[in-house]
Amino acid sequence: MNMSYHRGEIRVIGLGPGDHRFMTHDADLALADATDLIGYIPYVERIPPRAGLIRHATDNRVELDRARHALDLAHQGKVVAIVSGGDPGVFAMAAALFEAIDHGTPEDRLIPINIHPGISAMNAAAAKLGAPLGHDFCAISLSDNLKPWDVIARRLKAAAEGDFVIALYNPASKARPQSIFDAFKLLRDIKAPSTPVAFARAVGRHDEKHTLTTLAEADPSIVDMATLVMIGSSETRFIDKPDGTRWLYTPRSYGARP
Ligand code: SAH
Repeated sequence: MNMSYHRGEIRVIGLGPGDHRFMTHDADLALADATDLIGYIPYVERIPPRAGLIRHATDNRVELDRARHALDLAHQGKVVAIVSGGDPGVFAMAAALFEAIDHGTPEDRLIPINIHPGISAMNAAAAKLGAPLGHDFCAISLSDNLKPWDVIARRLKAAAEGDFVIALYNPASKARPQSIFDAFKLLRDIKAPSTPVAFARAVGRHDEKHTLTTLAEADPSIVDMATLVMIGSSETRFIDKPDGTRWLYTPRSYGARP
């Protein structure tokens, strides 16, 4: 190995769901002395410009190109910050980076990598709604850009039959408005009509909105790409408050429901 080889490093940083308050101190520190910033345009735009920081904002559909670009910059000695919304390890850039390294050169494996976690959409949504993730849960992405629909359908069915609380990411997009309708149809065939459902939109942002409903009454047409969909287990329940609003929670003990 050439010992004079000057390596930079890569930091994969979670920005949380939106507002800067939901970013960790660790993420702030990791950004502070980075030389290059890489990410999907809206995430890069969340970071204020500063002298010495070069911004490389790219379109959403090129995660692997973005990861390769980060590796090339790190080989040039740069301190590269790759930013993701929420947690970078949940349906985001950390896995894309490791995929690029897995298929990359032996030198790629010499680059120091640090992953800086963030608050994922399901955690942010759960905190606003109450405690829906209080017992066993799973997270499923409905994006079939990266996964065939029959795999998604198999997992939804297994999650419903396993009676997990389900957090659905990437529930809809302009390219595939049908997915969330297909998902609800499948879940309605297995789960009770009274199962609580929450649509948590733009959590932690100025246009945040929550819709609490049931599986039977839920209207999937209100779901968009900024929505996290939470579907309860058989134990998940609402607590009505005197002001007409409600908490959503899943008890810690299974089968203890009154
Ligand atoms: N790494 C991200 C998830 C990326 S996938 C995380 O950990 O949160 C993108 C999906 O995340 C969106 O389609 C939506 O389902 C969800 N999401 C991201 N930010 C959100 C927010 N602020 N409010 C609600 N859902 C959000």
